[in-house]
Amino acid sequence: MRTLSYFIRPTPRALNIELTFVPSRLGAMVLHLPIWRPGRYQVQNFAKNIAMVSSSHGPVIKSDLSSWTLEVHEIKPITVRYCYHAEQPDAGGSWVDESMVYINFVNCLLFPKRGENRPCVVEILHRNTPAGGYETSCSLRTYENQFRAKSYRELVDSPYLAAPKIHSHRWKSGGAIFYLQGLGPKNHFSDRLVKAYQKFVEYQLAYMGEFPVREYRFMLWICPKPFYHGVEHTKSTMMVLGPEDRDSYEDLIGLGSHELFHVWNVATIRPKALLPYDYTKAVIFDTGWIIEGITTYLGDWFLWASGVVRTAEYLSLLLGNLKLHFERDGSSKQSLVESSIDLWLDGYGAALPGKRVSIYFKGALIALGLDLLIRKKFNHTKSLREVMLLMQSRYGQLKKGYTRQDFYALVEEVFEGSLAHFWIKWVESAEPLEGDIRDLLAYVGLDFTQDGLLHCIHEEDLNNFSRAF
Ligand SMILES: [Zn+2]
Repeated sequence: MRTLSYFIRPTPRALNIELTFVPSRLGAMVLHLPIWRPGRYQVQNFAKNIAMVSSSHGPVIKSDLSSWTLEVHEIKPITVRYCYHAEQPDAGGSWVDESMVYINFVNCLLFPKRGENRPCVVEILHRNTPAGGYETSCSLRTYENQFRAKSYRELVDSPYLAAPKIHSHRWKSGGAIFYLQGLGPKNHFSDRLVKAYQKFVEYQLAYMGEFPVREYRFMLWICPKPFYHGVEHTKSTMMVLGPEDRDSYEDLIGLGSHELFHVWNVATIRPKALLPYDYTKAVIFDTGWIIEGITTYLGDWFLWASGVVRTAEYLSLLLGNLKLHFERDGSSKQSLVESSIDLWLDGYGAALPGKRVSIYFKGALIALGLDLLIRKKFNHTKSLREVMLLMQSRYGQLKKGYTRQDFYALVEEVFEGSLAHFWIKWVESAEPLEGDIRDLLAYVGLDFTQDGLLHCIHEEDLNNFSRAF
């Protein structure tokens, strides 16, 4: 029996967890807790939220920052018990209060060493179940009261949301089923929002030609405090926005479009170092800008191309991203490659002033630059779309990881020429890029002025930029 069986009883701020499994051999056995989670390439040491672990089989000894060891004397089921302190109310954490339960299994479920491919079942017993029970949102398969995952990897890529009432919309697009589900005041789950989601979903599926999964959930928690956070997963995304009394529509279309494109760009098309994810150590890679930059750039562009936002609104999103780079990080010392590696050091919090560039915003600038270079050379008959289609067929579909050099070579294949100077200047150095981007934007009828404004100067050229096929 290889299955890992988890039984979870949530109580406010706590997850009481039992893991039952049959060990595969006698002797010392190590149990790990992930030290990081997909979507944030930074050590988070979730083990700080566990005070102690016990078992039915004898003592469990803390043996490293995020691992415990027990002696196996007999091949028979072992039950391990512990409490996880669930008090991180964001999209990547776990949170339990009187009215809701949100669990990222990656935060809190121990797994036997090298057991990431073992099948899992999870049963969650809610306390004081109100009449009618809890409603849930989770991409795992359900069987009676259990959630089932074909592996620990799938389990920890599938967040779980439960509450007495979950708003839910369901629709079909391109042969797949989509849900928009979540918690919060009903007005945030408007028909207008659902229609916008349907539009960009349909557009992205047509842009990429196929969707890697059959069912996808946009999970949403509108929380009382000011908040803006989204985390991508293969079959879902979790988005947390607040406060409750603001108009969340514009943030939600931007966030939803961004997170959906991650189904291709990272969940399917993945850097070699991240395939598969090793949750027990920091995994250094220099291509974070490909994951977040292209997704940031295209996430906004899809809103325009699919008709969710008008041209003026798109130009303001584009200008916002350009300014976030040029005004904040334009004279930073690091290249994108260096800042990608440093994600693990200081990629998400404070860093030395003038040190870092953002893999999101400078990365988006690279994506824009590549899109425009390709469009210009091929008079809009090719664009960044051809790059992403080829990344999907060469790497994503084959479950093969890519390196930075693989990406360079593939883009040059689409471009039908060398981009050696581009890579050195835009990606591998910290040289200023205002002049270069200004020249390229002129090709699509845009004037990016010296004082940081963006004007349309040629409408037909700009219209061409809003299409990729
Ligand atoms: Zn992202």
